[in-house]
Amino acid sequence: MAAKLLLAAGAAALAGAGLLAVKRPDGPARQSQPLTSRGLPVQDPLNVTFTPLTKPKTAWQGQVSEEAYAVLFEEATERAGTCALLHEKREGTFVCAACYLPLFVNKTKFESGTGWPSFNEPIPGRLGFKTDYKIGYPRTEYHCARCGGHQGHVFDDGPPPTGQRYCNNGVALKFVPKGEALPALRD
Ligand SMILES: [Zn+2]
Repeated sequence: MAAKLLLAAGAAALAGAGLLAVKRPDGPARQSQPLTSRGLPVQDPLNVTFTPLTKPKTAWQGQVSEEAYAVLFEEATERAGTCALLHEKREGTFVCAACYLPLFVNKTKFESGTGWPSFNEPIPGRLGFKTDYKIGYPRTEYHCARCGGHQGHVFDDGPPPTGQRYCNNGVALKFVPKGEALPALRD
């Protein structure tokens, strides 16, 4: 019984990592598309391969604005409703404001009413996660998987299809409209 449970948990974890074919209700199992944590394919706008940087946080000073530095590397939170990206509705890609790793695409952005840019889903593999207790109860913090820059928190009260709400500091992102070349990753 225990072994069976363990196996089921393992399979779920693998499916979550996109390593197993996920049987969808509307068709046969699919194996070739990139899969997200909820088994939904997301179009990756740039086939980026990257390795995490080992750059010290303080070395980003001067490369990003003071406001962005406070959010990205001191885990500050921008004031709700203050970021222009909140109202960004064009097609395009949201990249990390520090290292330029693409993190979200516009298709997954939605209006949450919170005053922070909100997304249903990141580009697979671009975020790291940890639990923080800064405000007394556990929240899931997420950061850029390449430079470690703090982006926001993820909650389970988002709309379909994922039910997730990635609540992002706008100042930690940079928007690149469709048709414009994505900036090269910076160290
Ligand atoms: Zn980054």
